[in-house]
Amino acid sequence: MTSNQNIGSSEGGATQRARGNNAVQETAPETNNLLLPDTLSVHELANLMEEDPIDVIKELIRQGVMANINQVIDFDIASKVTQAYGFEAQRLGEDIDNGWREFSLDEKGAPNLIARPPVVTILGHVDHGKTTLLDAIRESNVTDREVGGITQHIGAYQVEYSGQKITFLDTPGHEAFTAMRARGARATDIAVLVVAADDGIMPQTIEAMDHARAAQVPIIVAINKMDVPGADVDRVKRQLVENGLVIEEWGGEVITVPVSAKEKQGIDELLDNILVVSEVEELRANPERSAVGVIVEAQVDKSKGPVATVLVQTGTLRTGGVVVVGRTWGRVRALFSDSGSRVEYAGPSTPVELLGLSQIPMAGDILGSVDSEKIAKDIVGERDRLSQSQQDFAAPTLEDAASRIGSGEISELNLIIKTDVQGTVDAVRGSLSKLSTEKARVSIVHAASGSINETDVMLATASRAIVIGFSTKVEPGARKLAETEKVDIRQYDIIYRLVEDVQRALSGLIAPEIREVVEGHVEVRAVFSAGRRGNIAGSYVTDGRITRNSIIHIIRGGEIIHRGLVASLKHFKDDVREMATGFECGVVVEGFTDYVVGDVLEVLREQQVT
Ligand code: GDP
Repeated sequence: MTSNQNIGSSEGGATQRARGNNAVQETAPETNNLLLPDTLSVHELANLMEEDPIDVIKELIRQGVMANINQVIDFDIASKVTQAYGFEAQRLGEDIDNGWREFSLDEKGAPNLIARPPVVTILGHVDHGKTTLLDAIRESNVTDREVGGITQHIGAYQVEYSGQKITFLDTPGHEAFTAMRARGARATDIAVLVVAADDGIMPQTIEAMDHARAAQVPIIVAINKMDVPGADVDRVKRQLVENGLVIEEWGGEVITVPVSAKEKQGIDELLDNILVVSEVEELRANPERSAVGVIVEAQVDKSKGPVATVLVQTGTLRTGGVVVVGRTWGRVRALFSDSGSRVEYAGPSTPVELLGLSQIPMAGDILGSVDSEKIAKDIVGERDRLSQSQQDFAAPTLEDAASRIGSGEISELNLIIKTDVQGTVDAVRGSLSKLSTEKARVSIVHAASGSINETDVMLATASRAIVIGFSTKVEPGARKLAETEKVDIRQYDIIYRLVEDVQRALSGLIAPEIREVVEGHVEVRAVFSAGRRGNIAGSYVTDGRITRNSIIHIIRGGEIIHRGLVASLKHFKDDVREMATGFECGVVVEGFTDYVVGDVLEVLREQQVT
């Protein structure tokens, strides 16, 4: 543990900037340590050293490396450059108790490994019975019955079944699951996918499936509501297979268990199967090492201060110990089990309520116990310094991905696809799947119809994927989240453009950046019927112009309600190529017919950024 590591002391950075690059070579500046990841772009490296990227590129050339600003270089090359600037590079995560790294869960080669209980999350479509199932399991199998039936909800609980423990995360749904994963946590060992037998597979079932698969977590399907007259197990099984989950009876690996959460039927079979899968997964942990865990939920209690539920993943968390969580630390004042009893320690896969943190952490934050307050303070201090650059290592943009493919660093392009209607999902998926090259292949993490929402952005963060929208809009919340999480959302209306961009990225080539610029506005003043072909918007160009090739956002009440290309543009009866300010025209936008007087058509044009 060293405490003198930092991202260039302000003194060193400033003097070097003032001296410029040449001076760096003639003096032997005092050495500062600089933490670097395995790979980073030239731009990121320049930022970390607080140097002009152009100077860094020149330094690279001096070292015999031709690289542009977006090029990704590896640690060995980067460390040579940092040396020239007086920084000693150290690989991020090399020193176990230092820096912004996740406390490692790696148990390879560790002695004293013991089997640990599986951690299970319940996913599925709304109203299919996730909460009822969690309650049913809890009620029939609580470990500690001493507290007179008081059920504490701390965000996770443990049951004992067949002499073995199973931990359930009590925050059902893939949104919470993926939000945790986006923060770097890998909390779940097994996903139970709940499908109502009367309803069958629904859009969120598919979403949940994709989220679990993206996390590479084994899935067990609980076919719920078997007590309902319309229950149809075979239909659910067929639908599972159609969606790529090959069930056991049909030669696959996915176990299905019919249950009724309401009647508490089939619960034992479900738990039996969870234990079977858990055994196959060989879940092990070392209770004798320092604890690493993940925050499941947290809030402020008026009398107790910040209260956090921690799922201990490995090691043993003890009262009195010092812990670091995200960018805060604290001394463990007290621990409470899921049944509300005070405990002195908590081992692997155990959820506990923790008192003693100075600030509220976020769900998905990693907790690690350390040996002293000094170490905790050092780590937090270093994380504060690193936080900015750390964000730069989030999900890649299409350009980043292209340059990483170009340099051979990655060989897979992760995509999340959202389109206007189901028909285009299949078309886009089909066109993109074919594109894989020798250098890299397309991996479609999730594809569905509908607008781009916050869950898609979370999934992109967690899976380091790019979100592709085809003829669909981005929800305002998702747009905001994408900005903070730095997720790249690409919108297309023309399939060949999309294919071309992805194709270029897969070949390691950076496509010219295309931005959309507003070219004018058109107001709908009357709506005419054109029979079976739908409606025509009788419109007036209030500013700018509209052309036959424009992209249109239909805006109503300040919100974009549709996005599509111009399908037809007429002046009286004649087809026209464009209409300018002050003219009237008849507009038809592809995929839309419900024009209302007062709608505004925002006219967009694609422009290449030079
Ligand atoms: P969630 O949104 O997936 O958490 O679903 P809930 O657990 O809230 O359940 C939704 C509705 O389905 C509730 O009215 C439950 O009582 C009902 N429900 C859940 N499981 C069963 C079941 O096995 N049989 C029947 N008949 N109803 C169920």
